[in-house]
Amino acid sequence: MNSNPHEILGVSPGAAPAELKRAYRRLAMRWHPDRSDHPQATERFKQINAAYEQLLAVDAEDVDEAEAPQAEPNESMARAADIRLNLEVSLEEAAAGCRKTIHYTRGNACPTCEGTGEHGMTRTRFCSACHGSGRVHDAKRNLVRCEECGGRGLFTERICKDCGGSGRELAEVSLEIRVPHGMLPGDELRLAGQGEPSDDELQAGDLYLTIVICSHPLYQLRGRDLYFQMPVSALAMMAGGDVDLPSLAGVICRSLDAGAAERRQLRLAGKGYPGRGKNHSGDLVVELEPVFPSKLSVRQRKLLLQANAALLDDATESLPKIADWRNAHGMT
Ligand SMILES: [Zn+2]
Ligand SMILES: [Zn+2]
Repeated sequence: MNSNPHEILGVSPGAAPAELKRAYRRLAMRWHPDRSDHPQATERFKQINAAYEQLLAVDAEDVDEAEAPQAEPNESMARAADIRLNLEVSLEEAAAGCRKTIHYTRGNACPTCEGTGEHGMTRTRFCSACHGSGRVHDAKRNLVRCEECGGRGLFTERICKDCGGSGRELAEVSLEIRVPHGMLPGDELRLAGQGEPSDDELQAGDLYLTIVICSHPLYQLRGRDLYFQMPVSALAMMAGGDVDLPSLAGVICRSLDAGAAERRQLRLAGKGYPGRGKNHSGDLVVELEPVFPSKLSVRQRKLLLQANAALLDDATESLPKIADWRNAHGMT
């Protein structure tokens, strides 16, 4: 069995820490037992890890320097970015809870370069600072080593064409989620591990969904109270009578007290938007709007005139001053 860590990682003995790391990431991804069906994948994966650790121990100081700018302050494994999205639901869906399939994109490691950003044949680009000579004039007009290219005069590039060297590709994701009942606009659902994906250095980020409730043709939600305007016949408001009120739980029948034909508010405690946790259900608040009859049929007009005549019969009691005046003028 091959036990030379440099050979296992396929790097030269003098390889820089950054190069070691790239080689390790590439191989670890290829041979990870979750990703490879190869019968020896587990064994190879162990070898690669062991080789990398061995070389890291040798280069410990260098690696620490190279890693310093990227190191996370906390001790736990660093996490990929969270994703935040709005989740639109109808009022009924939010009230009762629902299942939703959401679609979004997140970055997976590019399959072509396995997340390294490097792939394919080496391309050569001449250094523009020294025009490929590897040497430049300093302030005193002495020829010195070009710092841009480290004196090589050229750069070698293996940029992956499929991801432009970023190492990531955007993937469409469909996810079925459950929205619990009684969530309010602005409430957040957290789906652990459904944010930007993990790789060998990062844990997956989380997905946060902010609840947005679409506007409703009937109801307005204020806190957990549900408001709506209900047109009611002015005559029914005067005479009193039963009205059917729509609630989220179905029709509620209420009898109105006889009274004036003017705007009135009816509050049905606990019949509004459902509660959640320690929060109780809201109220159903109905704004009654009197509707006066306009275009009357012959029959309706006749009935109204009858009703009016009956009201005038009571004029002696309801309008005593007018009744006195009428009597004084011989009107009955
Ligand atoms: Zn790529
Ligand atoms: Zn140069």
